[in-house]
Amino acid sequence: MSHLFPTYSKWEIEPESAKGSYLYSKDGGVYLDFTSGIGVCNLGHCHPEVKQSVEQQLNKFWHVSNLFPIELQEKAAELLTNASGLDLVFFANSGAEANEAAIKLARKATGKTKILTFMQSFHGRTFATMSATGQDKIKQGFGPMLDKFEYVPFNDLEALQQLLTEDVAAVMLEVVQGEGGIFVASKEFLQGVEALCKEKGVLLIIDEIQTGIGRTGKAFAFQHFGIKPDIISLAKGMANGIPTGAIVADGKLKEFFGPGSHGTTFGGNPLAMAAAVKTMEIIFQQSFLDDVQKKSEWIISVLKEKLVGNQLVKDIRGLGLMIGIELDMPVASILGELRKEGLMVLNAGEKVIRLLPSLNTLQEDFEKALEILEKNLNIHAKITI
Ligand SMILES: *Cc1c(COP(=O)(O)O)cnc(C)c1O
Repeated sequence: MSHLFPTYSKWEIEPESAKGSYLYSKDGGVYLDFTSGIGVCNLGHCHPEVKQSVEQQLNKFWHVSNLFPIELQEKAAELLTNASGLDLVFFANSGAEANEAAIKLARKATGKTKILTFMQSFHGRTFATMSATGQDKIKQGFGPMLDKFEYVPFNDLEALQQLLTEDVAAVMLEVVQGEGGIFVASKEFLQGVEALCKEKGVLLIIDEIQTGIGRTGKAFAFQHFGIKPDIISLAKGMANGIPTGAIVADGKLKEFFGPGSHGTTFGGNPLAMAAAVKTMEIIFQQSFLDDVQKKSEWIISVLKEKLVGNQLVKDIRGLGLMIGIELDMPVASILGELRKEGLMVLNAGEKVIRLLPSLNTLQEDFEKALEILEKNLNIHAKITI
């Protein structure tokens, strides 16, 4: 009997080891992993350079607390600010904690309370981030939520304009809604959001927890759209599997997170920072990011070509290597079948297959995955005719 709370209905695969894009199970199974630990291991499992960086720090010290200056924190912060064009970093341990910091900072800096977020959004499981999330199923039984969050239809600038009143502290959004179903924001929408926020003195927070750290073929997804947020939040891909999170913010917000105003025991942990620095040094190279974009264009075009006549497939969309295949049926049983065929993928909502391969997945492994997907979806399409 399991002694764990059943908050996750677990898959049938028990991992024994993992390397690169492959996961090996205890019973001898070999799986091509297009989940990357839910968008975390962007450089694949057990990346040798990240491992070496953590090992070096393991031999020096593990934890000393944020009372001390820590060189690796400064290095990680420099990588983040250089890559984003923003100025100041606060390190947390997870996505929800990063969003908590963003929400606290926005309220304190503006002296206002209301935060606008979007329908189908996902921002985390703590009270503030659950309150920010635009999905009722996340909140059931946990009420009352934190006050002053309102939800706007995604990609609807007019609706936002109507709700963007004087008492709004911040607008918070995902450039690509991940858990909600891989919905990509339009350029006009995002540029409109930025302009409206500027006009009304409202802060723009972009939740880059899933889209950041190269996932979309830029260091951060907002960079596809010629906009500049005031705060971004990060976690998942930041240290390739060692838990960490962060916000990166505009320098004008410095005074609002002064000594004693916010904190965390583990945030900026040296082992996590060692992993984060190496991960970002590799991913933020322009040639690496260009390669992600090239792979993305190729995969999306091949998927469209292969699945064009498949009546089950309603849409193929995404940005970089965050790709959704929307079907005309629930995908849960299909994910199970794909695993039996050696391919692990995720869902996003009920009807979308979500692909989050590691960013350095080999061409031959992409081809293998596409073949398995095409075969399975074509069989399902024939069954339903
Ligand atoms: C995963 C995720 C979160 C929550 O991150 P945790 O580390 O699980 O707290 C928040 N926002 C987005 C967009 C995410 O994908």
